[in-house]
Amino acid sequence: MSITKRNLVMCPRCGTSLQMAVESEHRGKEVIISYSHLCPVCRYKEMVEQINIRLNGDKIYIVKQYEKFK
Ligand SMILES: [Zn+2]
Repeated sequence: MSITKRNLVMCPRCGTSLQMAVESEHRGKEVIISYSHLCPVCRYKEMVEQINIRLNGDKIYIVKQYEKFK
């Protein structure tokens, strides 16, 4: 077991440490997964990453649509 130091991100509005939230949205044959930082106190939300998964026949396409940190 390894211990990794988590990169804590603070809320720019109230200074609370942000939590990671994962949301998925289904649009027919498409699924959009969004990773965002969410403040549990003031509901501040910041998008970190968005991935689009598309089903095309027997193929699955995974496209990263948005990435904050590169
Ligand atoms: Zn906040």
